[in-house]
Amino acid sequence: MDVHAQLQSVWTDIIATYKPGTVEFIGSILSQVVGFILPATIYMLIDTLLPKFSRRHKIQGARRQPTRQQIQHCVKVCLFNHVWIIALQFTLLYLRGFDHAILKMDPIVPSLKTFIVDFGFGLLAREVTFYYVHRALHHPSIYVYIHKMHHKYITPVAFAAEYAHPVEHFFANVLPITLPLYLKDAHFLSIMAFSIFELWEAAADHSGYDFLKLPPAELHDLHHEKFRVNYGTIGLMDWIHGTDVVGWDRPETKVKIAK
Ligand SMILES: [Zn+2]
Ligand SMILES: [Zn+2]
Repeated sequence: MDVHAQLQSVWTDIIATYKPGTVEFIGSILSQVVGFILPATIYMLIDTLLPKFSRRHKIQGARRQPTRQQIQHCVKVCLFNHVWIIALQFTLLYLRGFDHAILKMDPIVPSLKTFIVDFGFGLLAREVTFYYVHRALHHPSIYVYIHKMHHKYITPVAFAAEYAHPVEHFFANVLPITLPLYLKDAHFLSIMAFSIFELWEAAADHSGYDFLKLPPAELHDLHHEKFRVNYGTIGLMDWIHGTDVVGWDRPETKVKIAK
């Protein structure tokens, strides 16, 4: 039996056994644990258990790294953001009696081709939406009230990816990943797989480590260090708008970033 047929068989069993709302709720928690909490914890363990390796591979210097207390505070806020999003989803599903899911629970597992199209669409849609939401958050009239909090960590660690004001967490972290695929009417499994990838990407982007070139962690690390550069996730929108260079808004000081 091929992988797709095996997946179909497991999915058929799950759909036949549990209510759609329950599948969506448990699947969403799993995505957050597998995609973010687990990788962010592993990155944090590298920081503490392998200090020599960590020092060799951190993009920014050891003296700029956050203290243990700052990291603990970051983890608490990040977990709070996960919990309130889970509580919101639980409430919405509870009101529907768990008989109906919010996302598409098709009994047929998407084909590989559909999955690849969904993934590509999600990647581009997230890049475009995140870029503009993120640039708006840097507007002087909004920045101090909302996004300044995320920029507390000039030298980021993985958990800092979701160290954000609740408004930012909803509009910049949750919606750009889920809304485009929801509007496309993509299968729940496509959304789940895409979310896991994007959450891991966010953790890797903020990990401060140089050993993962895909996604390119240096781009967002530089955003935390210099602020007004690299607003997107994969570099496409920054390339289009010319915001991939430090000093793009001050032409006389333009310095091409090292990629
Ligand atoms: Zn960030
Ligand atoms: Zn920012």
